[in-house]
Amino acid sequence: MNLKSEDLFRKALRLMPGGVNSPVRAFRAVGGEPLFVASGKGARITDVEGRSYLDYVLSWGPLILGHCHPQVMEALARVLETGTSFGASTPAEVELAEQIQAAFPSIERVRLVNSGTEATMAALRVARAATGREKILKFEGCYHGHADSLLVKAGSGVATLGLPDSPGVPRALAELTITVPFNDSAALEEAFRVHDHQLAAVIVEPVAGNMGCVAPRAGFLARLRTLAAEQGTVLIFDEVLTGFRVAYGGAQQLYGIQPDLTTLGKIMGGGLPVGAYGGKAALMDLVAPAGPVYQAGTLSGNPLAVAAGLKTLELLRAPGFYERLDALAESLVAGLRAEADRASVALTINRVGSMFTPFFTAEAVTDYASAKKADTAAFGRFFRALRERGIYFPPSQFEAAFISSAHSEDDIAETIRAAGAAFTALACR
Ligand SMILES: *Cc1c(COP(=O)(O)O)cnc(C)c1O
Repeated sequence: MNLKSEDLFRKALRLMPGGVNSPVRAFRAVGGEPLFVASGKGARITDVEGRSYLDYVLSWGPLILGHCHPQVMEALARVLETGTSFGASTPAEVELAEQIQAAFPSIERVRLVNSGTEATMAALRVARAATGREKILKFEGCYHGHADSLLVKAGSGVATLGLPDSPGVPRALAELTITVPFNDSAALEEAFRVHDHQLAAVIVEPVAGNMGCVAPRAGFLARLRTLAAEQGTVLIFDEVLTGFRVAYGGAQQLYGIQPDLTTLGKIMGGGLPVGAYGGKAALMDLVAPAGPVYQAGTLSGNPLAVAAGLKTLELLRAPGFYERLDALAESLVAGLRAEADRASVALTINRVGSMFTPFFTAEAVTDYASAKKADTAAFGRFFRALRERGIYFPPSQFEAAFISSAHSEDDIAETIRAAGAAFTALACR
């Protein structure tokens, strides 16, 4: 007899902190039993009780082709016949590096790592080495993984749980991290004035996804590019979420801005653990063994992750792939808006490509402060009402939802109907 979610979670609570391996999975922000997933196929997942859900989390973004895409699975099966790890170079990782470079012209050299966290941590190290400076600048509510320097005013799970900046981060390090509000060009200029020629790097989610989805204001990224160039500060676009998501070439393609360094992850691993950082040759050639900046990884360039990534990228290059995904996302968002209006629920939906967030507020959401004005209790009720109707949304107001190419027009219609019923239930309270 298989254990059910409730029993599994009780057991997990004894074995793992909070019962989970990553905080948001515990559903603390929305209530209800955490999901225990048995399997996924296409746009749907099935839990251990056998209930099926349309999935808008998609492993927090990586599964842009949906679960168990047959061609990705086939690519993985081939690797299983030849070996899963060698700790030595393989042809496929050279090919993946080539594809990344083709997708991101700003990336002249790239290093593969095992997670987004590793990628941002290493990118900061390179920027500090290149400039001989120690301070970095990030934006409030932007999440760049859990490295010490970056766990300051971070979004994602930190925002979800309402945690202050994490204990365990040495003050000496946190003091080197300057934060300003996202989308605030005046505050940005002030920070560059105060820390004149002292900033090693400025790191940004060019489309924020970890305070919920927030697009950059017109001119904001361009101002950032100019200021960084003027002061010799390394501009890092953290495209772990947006790379291959908002466009094949990421937000830098969408907005036409070239950063000095880029971090990647999620989609480029096709659902396996992966990350990458890359950029100008002059910066990346500082990395060992080309240069003195140390960074290494036992499983880096792992054959399974590389094979899943290569096949995923190949399928993303199909003509019209992003246009179709965009149209699907727009029809869902338009449907959600119409249903919210009908039920008189105050809702602001932000969308960039196939990532979006319905914020339970009437006001525009342009930064972390405005995102935090959303009614998180209402979001929690919405989440639970959708779940009852077989729709799985991110279990937090401050996370983006995603659409995959496995979602059909019928799936979207089903989701809009379920959301309509959920909004009506909310409004009747
Ligand atoms: C998910 C994410 C990370 C961290 O990646 P992990 O693989 O979870 O370590 C970093 N930056 C952004 C923008 C992300 O969305």
